[in-house]
Parts: sequence; structure tokens; C-alpha cells
Amino acid sequence: MYRTHNNGQLRAVDINKEVTLAGWVQKTRDKGFMVWVDLRDRYGITQLIFDEERTSKEVIEKATKLGREFVIQVKGTVIERVSKNPNMPTGDIEILVSELNILNESLTPPFTIEDETDGGEDLRMKYRYLDIRRKPVRENLIFRSKVAMAVRNYLSKEGFIEVETPYLIKSTPEGARDFVVPSRMNAGQFYALPQSPQTFKQLLMVGGLDKYFQIVKCFRDEDLRADRQPEFTQIDCEMAFVEQEDILNAFEGLTKHLLKEINGIVPSNSGSKFPRMTYDEAMEKYGNDKPDIRFGMEFGELNAVAQNKDFGIFNQAELVVGIAVPGGNAFTRKEIDNLIDWLKRPQIDALGMVYVRCNEDGTYKSSVDKFYDQEDFAKWAEITGAKTGDLICVLSGAKNKARTQLSALRMHLAEQLGLRKNDEFAPLWVIDFPLLEWDEETNRYHAMHHPFTSPKPGQLELLATNPGEVKANAYDLVLNGNEIGGGSIRIHDKKTQALMFDYLGFTPEEAKAQFGFLMDAFQYGAPPHGGIAFGLDRLVAILGGQETIRDFIAFPKNNSGRDVMIDAPAPIDMKQLDELHLKVEIKK
Ligand code: ASP
Repeated sequence: MYRTHNNGQLRAVDINKEVTLAGWVQKTRDKGFMVWVDLRDRYGITQLIFDEERTSKEVIEKATKLGREFVIQVKGTVIERVSKNPNMPTGDIEILVSELNILNESLTPPFTIEDETDGGEDLRMKYRYLDIRRKPVRENLIFRSKVAMAVRNYLSKEGFIEVETPYLIKSTPEGARDFVVPSRMNAGQFYALPQSPQTFKQLLMVGGLDKYFQIVKCFRDEDLRADRQPEFTQIDCEMAFVEQEDILNAFEGLTKHLLKEINGIVPSNSGSKFPRMTYDEAMEKYGNDKPDIRFGMEFGELNAVAQNKDFGIFNQAELVVGIAVPGGNAFTRKEIDNLIDWLKRPQIDALGMVYVRCNEDGTYKSSVDKFYDQEDFAKWAEITGAKTGDLICVLSGAKNKARTQLSALRMHLAEQLGLRKNDEFAPLWVIDFPLLEWDEETNRYHAMHHPFTSPKPGQLELLATNPGEVKANAYDLVLNGNEIGGGSIRIHDKKTQALMFDYLGFTPEEAKAQFGFLMDAFQYGAPPHGGIAFGLDRLVAILGGQETIRDFIAFPKNNSGRDVMIDAPAPIDMKQLDELHLKVEIKK
């Protein structure tokens, strides 16, 4: 037997027990006559003591040769520690070692394997297996497993069946590029890895499974933004015979269960139900379709009170919009200038910012005093909800752009002011998304969610005249400024689906070639259905009170989509290319 106990287990009540432990050497302290070793495994750390007077010479000698991360097994007696460590669960005891076996030696690790490490991100990723030995990483993975288990338990209890769908498929458009896999047996043909199991889960509904879920890998070949992974995990779900309301209720249930089970909390902002907000309202109030509602700073539109004065910039703007920053009057001139510089960076690209200080004596002082009087500012304050001591920040320009910029400023300031609290959870449904979204690049409409999403009842006709106005039966679950889930009620008849493909610019032939199987299936009694998918990586990070999803993925890819540990992607040899009927020419 390698061990009788693990390294997080022994307590004062175990004193005098003979035990066998195994694990990794985290640290040794050699005082000559005594050697201490911190022995680590997944469960914790137990201190070993080798003592000249009580341990054989031969064993002590071996102990002095131990290096960091050697794998050892010891036999010994649990004894009371002279100097106890109240910060460690095993801090009352130590093991007086009588026998030491070195199970495997280790090179000196490239970084320290402790809670605080000296290893930079790249190095830790290259030696991820060593990084995983560190408690913070290990705990995150254990936490993830706990969340996944809670999801499975809850959904199974609710009657959902977990079904695996294939990875080698044909393209499923979710708005990204596909990763493709060449087929050896079918020359010149390719599989695509699923961007999501969307079409398959719909087919499972046609198949009568009624309630499906899957914790599943999805693959999207997107330009990598910070903290996105080319492969990521979804909790993918679908239900038959449902309306939007049924889906919202079902998955509100799941979210509440997770918050309770994992974090032990009931969300601060929801009585019996999560609040709901339409997409239009979210854009108007927060400039964002995934607003963080843990704090206020709602937008106030100022066109009516700020235009038609002598300030040309506002007069020409499609939208003049402001927020009140609580306590912002305390900002120094320099701090405000820094904010303006921050807004002018290319990432945000604002031309500038107008600000109004709301002084304690009730007066206002602004950067545009030349054009406006105190009465004007009082109106701005009323609309933005500014109180004395606040700072009103105003941006202007084209509507969408000004909103996006002000939304970025709102989040930036909230972060600065400590309003984004890790231990507060404020979920929100955003509903009534537009069905279509104009794409500047291709100069046409794209499905905002995906082409299988149904328009709101009675809005199909609008497609012909006002496509941008059509609203969809689509919804997102937003948590603390993150979209953690999104889904829709689907089209379930061939005619509407064909019409949708037509509006999206597919010729009937293209639609048939790509999605004929789905439209065919719709002809055999497809039930009304809808679903949702949650991003598990992000959900876990948020529930864990952290920002970076990489920290919750065992073997993540870096920002260039590389696995630096196994060094992938990598070229393949000629023989393999030949078998795949491929000839690769690298364009420089
Ligand atoms: N397939 C969708 C997605 O990956 C989710 C859904 O509509 O259920 O975002």
C-alpha cells in the first residue's frame, strides 16, 4: 500500500498512529541534526521530521539528499508538533519518519510550486503539469468539477438526458470560422468541428428526446480576443414543447441552484425571479447588451437639453449621453484628464469628453461653461441622476458609437471605484434581441444569434420591409456584466427556415447542401422547441469570483491559440499530408 492517509488528513487525534504517506517534497529545511520536509499531495501538506536522535542515520542521510518535487513514501509515527501552525489543517502534528523510500527523483522545477509562485504565465503554461500541483490551480480545477457535477445533478433531476453529439460534422454557423479536419478516406473532403451542437440538439428534439443537455466542447476559429479559447466548453441544452417563458424559468432554476449550491447565496437583485430587460432598454440604459447591474450609473440621454445651444459638437451629434459618477467631483483635474486620455486611446476612440462637477454647494462647474448655464446643468443632473459630489461625464456622436464608448467608461470607472464586487451576483435576462444584425464588412444582414432562431410571432412579414427591426425569440442570461448563457426558440418548420436562409443570402441550393438534413427533418413532425447554452468556462470563473477563464481550464491555449506545452499547432509530415490528399503551400 502506497499510503494509509493523505497529506491533508492527520490531526491531533491521530497522535501515536503509525502511518504511511506519499507525495511530493515541497520544501526541506536541513538544520544538520534535524531535517524537516513539507510533503504535499492534492489534499494538503504534512510536515515530516527526521531527527538525529530518533531516526536512523541512514534515513537521515537519505533525507538530506531530497530535492524539491522528489516523489517519496514515508513510514512513521504521528507526533505532536512543538511549534504548531494554526494556519495549516495538519499544523498540530508532524510525522517522525522511520522509513523513507524515494519513488522518483525530480529535476529542479523551473518555478516554485507554492501558492505564490515566481513563474511567469508562459513558463507556467509550458510546465502546466507542475502548475497544476500548485494549490490555486488545483483548487480551481476541483471547483470546476464541482460546478459541472452540480449542473449534471440538477438537470438530471429535472429530467434532462445527457446525449453526446459528434465532433466530426459539417459546418454549424455560430458566427465564427470552422476548424476543419481533412478526411483521409474521402479525398478532398473535410469535416468541420462543431461551433456548437446546435443542429444536432434540434434533431434530438425531432427525435422526441424532449429534454437534452450535454457538457460539451465547442470549437470556433476566431481572432482571439483576450481570454477567449478556440476550444471551450458549453452546457448545451434543448427542450421541446416550450415557449420562451418555459426556458427562462427552467434555466433560472439551474442558475439559482448553482449560486446556492456552489456559492451559498441567493442573488441580491432578484426576489422570486431574475429581472428582465429588453435588448433595446439595455442598449439605451447601459450601452451594452450584457450590462453589469451590480451598480447604477445608468445612461441619461441629453439631446433635448444639450442641443440647440451654441455648442456645435453636441448640435451635430446623433446622441448626447451622460452618466453620473458617484463621488466623482473628488477627481482632480489630472485624474479627469487621464480619463479623457483613456477615452481617446484607439481601443475606445472617443474624440473627447465633456464633464460637469456637481459641487457641494449645489453649483455646477463644467468644461463647457461657455455654452451652458446653471439651469442647463441642473437638467443634465436630473436626467443622469447626479447628486452633489458627483461628476457628470458626457459623450456624443453617432448613437451606437457613443453608447459603446460610454459603456466602456462606465465599466472602467466602476472598476476604479470598487463597484464591481466579486462576492455580489446580479443576474439578468436580456430578451427581445434583434433577429438580424448589419455587418459592415460583408454589407449585409447576418443572424444575430444564429439562423435557426425564430422571429417574434407576427414579425416575419417585417423581414421584407424593415429587416433590422425584426425582434427574435432570443435571450441571454447576463451575470455581472458577462453573457453566461444565450439561446432562442427555434424555427421548426421548413418553410420559415427556408425563408430565413433566403434572407440571410443563401441560395436555395446552398441552403439545401448545408442544411438540407435539418429542413428535411422538419417535415417529419418537428415539435416546437428551443434551448440555451451556457459557457461553462466563464460561468465557473465568475462563480469562483475570478476573471480569467484560463485559470479554470486544465490545459488552456495562449492568446495566439497555441498550446505551448505540447507545442501545437505544428506542421505534419509529408506522408501524413499525402494520405490526406493535401498539398500545403505556405503563403508568406
Ligand atoms: N448554439 C447556441 C450557442 O452556441 C446556443 C443556443 O442557441 O442554444 O450560442
